[in-house]
Amino acid sequence: MRIVVVGGGIAGLSAAYELQECARAMELSPEIVLIEKEGYLGGKIVTERVDSFVIEGGPDTFVSTKPWGVALARKLEIEERLMGTDMERRRVFVVRDGKLVELPDGLAMMVPTKFWPMIKTSLLSPLGKLRMGLDFFTPPADGDQDESLGAFVSRRLGREVYERLIEPLMSGIYAGDGDRLSLASTFPFLRDWEREHGSLTGGALALRRKRRAARRSGAPRSIFLTPQNGLGEMVETLQAALDSVEIRLNQSVESVVPVDGGFMLQIAGSEPMHATAVILAAPGFAAAKLVRPFDARLADVLDGIEYVSTATVSLAFDQDQLDHGLDGHGYVIPRREGREALACTWTSTKFPHRAPEGGALVRVFIGRAGQGEEHIADEQELIAIARRELAETMGITAEPKIVRVYQWPDAMPQYNLGHPERLDKIEQRLANWPGLALAGAAYKGIGIPDCIHSGEQAAASILAHLAIMKDQEDFALQKMEVS
Ligand SMILES: Cc1cc2nc3c(=O)[nH]c(=O)nc-3n(C[C@H](O)[C@H](O)[C@H](O)COP(=O)(O)OP(=O)(O)OC[C@H]3O[C@@H](n4cnc5c(N)ncnc54)[C@H](O)[C@@H]3O)c2cc1C
Repeated sequence: MRIVVVGGGIAGLSAAYELQECARAMELSPEIVLIEKEGYLGGKIVTERVDSFVIEGGPDTFVSTKPWGVALARKLEIEERLMGTDMERRRVFVVRDGKLVELPDGLAMMVPTKFWPMIKTSLLSPLGKLRMGLDFFTPPADGDQDESLGAFVSRRLGREVYERLIEPLMSGIYAGDGDRLSLASTFPFLRDWEREHGSLTGGALALRRKRRAARRSGAPRSIFLTPQNGLGEMVETLQAALDSVEIRLNQSVESVVPVDGGFMLQIAGSEPMHATAVILAAPGFAAAKLVRPFDARLADVLDGIEYVSTATVSLAFDQDQLDHGLDGHGYVIPRREGREALACTWTSTKFPHRAPEGGALVRVFIGRAGQGEEHIADEQELIAIARRELAETMGITAEPKIVRVYQWPDAMPQYNLGHPERLDKIEQRLANWPGLALAGAAYKGIGIPDCIHSGEQAAASILAHLAIMKDQEDFALQKMEVS
């Protein structure tokens, strides 16, 4: 009995780990193989350690509000190595007309909860602030119809709040176009707040009260966590823990075809491999290519999940090269500012342990749906954009000591309108292929905890399938013995 996991990103690694740990407990002893087309594990998680700087190429933190990231760290015995962000200097800024304006205090999941900071902020016009107040008087929408994030927030808080506040914060997560993103698939709790509390502000206030109560009972304060040595530490620890898993790097799975008793995998440059069950933990479009030969309808649905290309440029300096104090976690740039960059993290303030004494590290994000994506392929252009961004917004023109560019073509899945229906169709199609499961960022959450959870769920569904198969075999054997 062999289970193959295709893709060695965090979802595939979590699936392999769950298979290894649970199969033992279930007295199943499958051979587990993880196949990754690149020469390294981790997928989007890439951590480089250069001259005592910890540089993240992809994700740099995960949220503790979704339990699966912390739970995995606990299982791997690295929970005590998780560090929060610097809460003393957690100011975040938004660019308005080219200038940095501090994000008003009191936002809960992007939604304002404090009156005075919103009244005083120069981020919004007086009319925009007045319009925001209509949230209290706007009745919840009827029915269960999904709507775009942009339409929903504009309906409740006004277009200006959407464009100046919510859109740039949301872009930091999805790099998407909020006028196309499905509310139900991205921020479903906002709709729940509208229904349950009558307004977004009411929902946000309730959340703040809950958080305050949790803090009193000793819960950690920063909701953003990362291992001390970068997220790569999580990947390295997982890799070391997969002692019963055969890991194959630099091998690309080319097709997966159902055959008697499972699936036959074609692997570039290697012998075909039979598997009793397969978990596809590759991006949606890559999974589509693999299933197309036997289920074109499933492939079409998977191909319907759009992806956006992004890049990050990390620049390291000596602090005394900079006139800027980097006093905060960084800033986001609204789409309407028309800039090529999306955001800039002041990494050495947000995570002081990521830079040596006297060092300064910043990271510029480039590329969002329909904006800046065209530059992703050109490394020099990306560096030029990043340096222009630092010069124009922060006045930093110093020559960086270290520059690292990470290009992420087709990296961010977009949960656009129609995504919930796509997930339903995927589930219906998968019901025809017991022994086949999907995992990863394409489906029910792009954050690391969600990807871990999706890998674990895929593993659980495969193990349940194998347990049923085993019961059926045992039953058939018993019947043969009896007769
Ligand atoms: C720049 C950036 C910043 C981000 N920041 C954050 C953040 O701060 N916090 C957060 O929680 N999330 C963040 N994310 C999102 C998060 O990193 C990803 O959603 C998540 O890592 C995806 O994991 P995955 O395992 O689903 O996919 P991937 O990491 O894409 O892994 C899929 C793997 O499948 C392999 N593969 C594909 N096809 C084949 C094939 N045919 N055969 C074999 N192998 C194959 C690929 O090589 C890849 O290694 C960020 C993403 C990016 C790009």
